Amino acid sequence: MPFSHPLVIASQTLPLNQSLATVAYIVAAVLFIFSLAGLAHQTSAKRGNLLGIIGMVLAVGATIFGVMNGGYLWMAAAIVPAILIGVRLAARLSMDHLPQLVAILHSFVGLAAVFVGISSHIEPGIAVPDGEMLIHKIEIYVGVFIGALTFTGSIVAFLKLAELIGGRAVTLPGRHVLNLVLMITCVGLGIWYCRVEGDDALVPLLIMTAISSLIGVHLVMAIGGADMPVVVSMLNSYSGWAAAAAGFMLKNHLLIVTGALVGSSGAILSYIMCAAMNRSFLSVIMGGFGSGAGGPAAVVEGTTKEFSVDETVAMLEEAQSIVIVPGYGMAVAQAQHSLAEVVKTLLKRNKEVRFAIHPVAGRLPGHMNVLLAEANVPYDIVLEMDEINEDMSDTDAILVIGANDIVNPAALDDPNSPIAGMPVIEVWTAKTCVVMKRGMATGYAGVGNPLFFKDNTYMLFGDAKQNVDAILRGLQR
Ligand code: NDP
Repeated sequence: MPFSHPLVIASQTLPLNQSLATVAYIVAAVLFIFSLAGLAHQTSAKRGNLLGIIGMVLAVGATIFGVMNGGYLWMAAAIVPAILIGVRLAARLSMDHLPQLVAILHSFVGLAAVFVGISSHIEPGIAVPDGEMLIHKIEIYVGVFIGALTFTGSIVAFLKLAELIGGRAVTLPGRHVLNLVLMITCVGLGIWYCRVEGDDALVPLLIMTAISSLIGVHLVMAIGGADMPVVVSMLNSYSGWAAAAAGFMLKNHLLIVTGALVGSSGAILSYIMCAAMNRSFLSVIMGGFGSGAGGPAAVVEGTTKEFSVDETVAMLEEAQSIVIVPGYGMAVAQAQHSLAEVVKTLLKRNKEVRFAIHPVAGRLPGHMNVLLAEANVPYDIVLEMDEINEDMSDTDAILVIGANDIVNPAALDDPNSPIAGMPVIEVWTAKTCVVMKRGMATGYAGVGNPLFFKDNTYMLFGDAKQNVDAILRGLQR
């Protein structure tokens, strides 16, 4: 039977444009692989990005001109507004809003997988041989399940990152049992779905979509403290698997490859982040962390000592070795460009200046690296936490700029803290540490920070950009 679906590449006797499309798909898949490889390091990230863009343009072009055989108006009606909205959003977006944008984009992929799955059930569009019908139905069911979970989970992640709802863990009593019951119900509905046909099968499919959406909300609501980064990268992974599942439903090989690339790289990133934060992957997924060991967290109180801008400048002038620890506040204040100038000035005076980057600093994996690269800070002075943490005690001066959770000693000292066990940058072991922030507010995890009351810690209150500008003027006087 001939294939009729616009997105299907037939395996035999392909017309020329379809053969070219197949070649273009293969080239696009290779470009995506090189793109991921490029994104692995700052120096090659721009090239990686460019290769990804070329691969995507090639893939969309090949689909429209080589594979589709009709439906161009529908395609234009979807693509043109999407391009306009995407370009406008990207142009207006400031870097500190990037995390929530990424989260909402994951939700779109999930929703697309749900739509593709349900429409594939109503109108398969491809010829499915009788013997493969069961496999096709499983593809639909799994795709819709992952898609719905990704959709609602990413929306909750978006709301948390955009601070439209609180970032703390919201846990229902007996949440693990509830998750288990919901999962078992989905398996049961899956068996029902596979056994019936047509409209009858739509019933279990739609019920499962509702339950899976609920699981997505429940799982992500239950994650708080400092564990959100893992959730963001996990949802990234899920969105990849949802796309791969849609690829199986449509028999579109490029979608399968691309989805698998996103799915596996997101899973690897989640694993790396869990290892870096000393978290168990399964516990984070199940919302088991972020709530401490059970007892109340230690009360954090004391008296802070303040530094003025002039005193901070004097400290930097005296110091030989300086470490800068940037956090989310640097992104909010957009202080990276002025900071790069401060660093240039200090380097010219032959001081050793380095950055210490925590794996979850900011609100997105690599958030600080992107900002520092944007400000042209040399890559070789930007070090990961593991590379520099043991040098802290030999450091003369530390500038903590808009960071809080990632330098919180309670993570090491208080087993009941919501961030207990998370490795942190041990800035308090240096000779002098200056913390730049606007007030005494907590960070993302919402926990008090004993660092601010340590003997060798001084607070420089105010907006990070204004204070860094003032420090620059002080150094140039
Ligand atoms: P935090 O959120 O812990 O702290 C940021 C601090 O910056 C705040 O305490 C705030 O204090 C200060 N601040 C805000 N605006 C300004 C400003 N304009 N000028 C100066 N200071 C400012 O950030 P960290 O980077 O230390 O830690 C990241 C946290 O986010 C971790 O808990 C991490 O788990 C979580 N997270 C990370 C993700 C990732 O992938 N990296 C994703 C999701 C969450 P004040 O208001 O007093 O100025």
